[in-house]
Amino acid sequence: MAFKIPYGRQNIEQDDINAVLKTLQADFLTQGPKVKEFEEKFAAYVGANYALAVNNATSGLHLSVLAMGLKEGERVITTPITFAASANCIRFANGEVWFADIDPDTYLLSIESTRKLIESKPKGFFKGIIPVDFAGLPINLEAFRELADEHNLWIIEDACHAPGGYFTDSKNTINNCGNGNYADIGVFSFHPVKHIACGEGGMLTTNSKEIYTKLSLLRTHGITKENMIENHGGWYYEMQELGFNYRLTDFQSALGITQLAKNNKGVQRRNEISNNYKKAFQGKIKFQSLPKGTYNAHHLFVIETENRKDLYDFLRSHNIFAQIHYIPVHKLPYYQNIGYSNANLVNAENYYSKCISLPMYPSLSNEEQKFVIDKVLEFIN
Ligand SMILES: *Cc1c(COP(=O)(O)O)cnc(C)c1O
Repeated sequence: MAFKIPYGRQNIEQDDINAVLKTLQADFLTQGPKVKEFEEKFAAYVGANYALAVNNATSGLHLSVLAMGLKEGERVITTPITFAASANCIRFANGEVWFADIDPDTYLLSIESTRKLIESKPKGFFKGIIPVDFAGLPINLEAFRELADEHNLWIIEDACHAPGGYFTDSKNTINNCGNGNYADIGVFSFHPVKHIACGEGGMLTTNSKEIYTKLSLLRTHGITKENMIENHGGWYYEMQELGFNYRLTDFQSALGITQLAKNNKGVQRRNEISNNYKKAFQGKIKFQSLPKGTYNAHHLFVIETENRKDLYDFLRSHNIFAQIHYIPVHKLPYYQNIGYSNANLVNAENYYSKCISLPMYPSLSNEEQKFVIDKVLEFIN
């Protein structure tokens, strides 16, 4: 076979290139009109009141925990089956990471396991929850909000995998990932393997003006010209907090705008690909289940197999570069070294022993996908 098939890849077309070239020749390279335009279009896309562009989602998660007021030693719950940054952001603020287990069929943070963990501790023990829309499957945040409200917790939705996905709540309302109806903040990534490619980039969404103001301040050094204590003249500004430089550039935002415009089409194609896989594997291979009323944005297509390493090697020998998502976060040496070696997360570890992500991206052709399916079935049989 001549072609090489990765598990994911970006889709950059001529209109994307034109948009970036045009912005490079305009007045602003950073903090110009394209940033604002991207933020406004993104907020409208997910249906949130506010969106704030950042230089990547890891920075965005960092700002999010700070905006929620996380302090040293405070405890936050997240899932072990995610990219490390979902947990690392808690450590950036010197907080404690607590893992609840995943659901064995959706692979998402289990509400039951989270409730059990919370109820095993005194009131006030935890401050927040960071659920993840893993693989693009939107987590039911209505259930998490109820639990969070009972215990006075905030929720940061790590929606890095799921722009364009939604779940349906008990009032039959469709909730786009990151719409802020149930979570305090939504976090998106524009890394090239994700849906919308900016090279590096991220977006934070919220419905709270107060949180938005705090996030904006922290994104730019904690410096502001609004709500100042003094004013010495036109040049005057104040640094009111210890903030960062987590800004996105104008030319990356220009790319984000054209990429966002194609996202619905891309997610549709991802769902076509997913349906092809499901049709071929139904009854033979376990794949991520889809709760009723939920639209999976399909960053990934994950299957489970007993001989995962052999399948991984077999596919590679045929130029199919499948990937594993993820090594459980508590198994990473950093977390092992700070005391997670006894963590008892049975579903997460069982999942990790079997999971493998097959190629999933809009430009994957039917011919390429058929080749992947044939090779997987050949291996399984
Ligand atoms: C990619 C990813 C991140 C980090 O995104 P960056 O933009 O690369 O910093 C965080 N959480 C999840 C679930 C991710 O997949």
